[in-house]
Amino acid sequence: MGNRLTHILILADLEGSSGCWRYRASSFLTDEWCRACLEMSRDVSAVVSALFKAGVKTITIKDFHRTGYNLFPEMIDSRATLISGYRRGPVPGIGNPNNAQAVMFLGMHAASGSDGFLAHTLTSRIARLEVNHRFLAEIELFAGSLAPWGIRPVFFSGCPVACKQAEVVIENINCFPIDKSRGPENFDARIWRSALAQEAVKSLANHKAKPYEPVGPFNARVTMRDGEAEAARLARRWKFEQAGSQIRICSASIHQLYLELIRLCYLTPTIEKVLPLALVAFNLKGRIGIIRARRRLKRLLQR
Ligand SMILES: [Zn+2]
Repeated sequence: MGNRLTHILILADLEGSSGCWRYRASSFLTDEWCRACLEMSRDVSAVVSALFKAGVKTITIKDFHRTGYNLFPEMIDSRATLISGYRRGPVPGIGNPNNAQAVMFLGMHAASGSDGFLAHTLTSRIARLEVNHRFLAEIELFAGSLAPWGIRPVFFSGCPVACKQAEVVIENINCFPIDKSRGPENFDARIWRSALAQEAVKSLANHKAKPYEPVGPFNARVTMRDGEAEAARLARRWKFEQAGSQIRICSASIHQLYLELIRLCYLTPTIEKVLPLALVAFNLKGRIGIIRARRRLKRLLQR
């Protein structure tokens, strides 16, 4: 086939990776997080190696969990480009996706309000997020932000609920679940990881999945976990409509919706004004975090 995929973008999260078994493991600077970073690095590394072996020429990895610094670059084939931390744009968080043809989502989780493993959308402070009367998972925002670049979502891995949500909205995407219902002691990470890598390679033959750009308008109902006072505070900050613990946002496009949700979850108007500077500080925190994780892990593994 002449249209073989040669440039792949990988978006990697931690909750649906093989080393995260409870909330603590997703929390910055805990011992469990350090171990989860190690397993997440192994997962991503397995996929990257398999893709290169299958003939992919260029791989860009974007770490998309919390600080954006959860992967140990020394564990991943150095031919791949790892983007840690966050870029302002043109694609929110990612920066310039260059000429990636397809995107693969690893370690993902289900939407806020649904019953998936550590389900949340953008932040766990959102208890429930419904857009046009159904749960909105992150894949819709991420895949949507890449659609103008013609980047096709071909592969997704996360808990079974997350996979189902991805399949419903993105036609023909290949999914590979991670089942955490039986606990880490009954889970063989090596076997699962090699299957993950094989399935990712198979998705290189996915010529059906199209760039995901749903048509608006989008009516979002955001229920805040901390209740009415928190919702009122955030609504005032951004001039959103609010009723009880719910914030209402109406956006014309998926891109506008994504930007409004980023504002709601991560920014203040002041920080938005100095965003380039704020990102430097934020990314520095992440960089220091992964250095500390590396040191801590050495100690933990010696015990
Ligand atoms: Zn995450």
